[in-house]
Amino acid sequence: MNIENLMRKNIRSLRPYEAKEIKCRVKLDANESPYSFPELLEKALSVKTNRYPDPEGLALKKAASRQWKIPPENLLLGNGSDELIYYLILTFGGPVIFPEPTFSMYGIISKAIGVKAVGIKLDKNFDLDTEKFLSAIKKHKPKLIFLSNPNNPTGNCFSTDRIFEIIRATKALVVVDEAYQPFSSKNGFIPLLHEMENLVIMRTLSKIGFAALRVGFLISSADIIKAVNRVRLPFNLNSLSQTVAIEVFKNYRRIMKTVKEICKERDRLYKALEQLPGVMPHPTEANFILFRVGNASRVHRALLKKGVLIRNMTPLIKDALRVTIGNPEENNLFLKALEAVIK
Ligand code: PMP
Repeated sequence: MNIENLMRKNIRSLRPYEAKEIKCRVKLDANESPYSFPELLEKALSVKTNRYPDPEGLALKKAASRQWKIPPENLLLGNGSDELIYYLILTFGGPVIFPEPTFSMYGIISKAIGVKAVGIKLDKNFDLDTEKFLSAIKKHKPKLIFLSNPNNPTGNCFSTDRIFEIIRATKALVVVDEAYQPFSSKNGFIPLLHEMENLVIMRTLSKIGFAALRVGFLISSADIIKAVNRVRLPFNLNSLSQTVAIEVFKNYRRIMKTVKEICKERDRLYKALEQLPGVMPHPTEANFILFRVGNASRVHRALLKKGVLIRNMTPLIKDALRVTIGNPEENNLFLKALEAVIK
């Protein structure tokens, strides 16, 4: 039986998102938080396992709505923001435009669904090249534009003015993916929601200590939410995650303290990387640092031999590695290993 022939054509050349489990002592490859909050799981014990979850996730929407000061009808819940990217492209189709390099799922999901994906190279500072973007908008007439802000894997925020320019220049929905916003010095786009009808925002709990829950949020006008809700699978967010996510919002301040700790460590790590000969870190507003180093793939392998797993960004970005900020001990182990390797 030839499975390849049975597949839709666009799936034949599709490669799965790389998320292999690699054994290591220090895991700094997936932009997770080093802090876990097992005490917030207690409430999950009262979940009725025989019942389906609340299909709308109303209680969770209310909790998020209080935190972000937006009405629940402006929110849609996803099984991680990945699922929301999927739903957006399923609902509105393509062409889909995004900068390059950026989070790979915008392209992977476009391909899986079978819509055209157009990557627009960032400028030399990894900021948006508005000229290229505006001409791509004219040429391709996109339905969706994804902007990860801060951007993964470069770590920087794009200039707010340039994002505005793109939002104004297009009839497409502009999705500002704020997965890393809690680590950024900028405010984020939620307060601007009512001024821009084609603005869509995504948030996630994955980077602040709850990647295991898979909880993402789509934030936009009630009409866009209603449209995307048409393709949402019933019960897409399980009861355990809904219950614990409500606890996350009850404990938001305490969790944000750990985010502050991570930012402090990020700044320390950045300075230490700057001091290492041949290592060039890129300015970051996220919980990771992209840095250039000669022979990046060899450095990556040598680090892994020492039990330290980070992300190799070559060939996407030449001679670049991405390290997630861990706890102080993990960061020290990483620094020590890197120092030894480049010597
Ligand atoms: N957006 C960006 C920019 C990301 O880096 C990630 C995680 N790697 C996601 C979305 C997906 O997050 P989630 O865990 O909510 O699916």
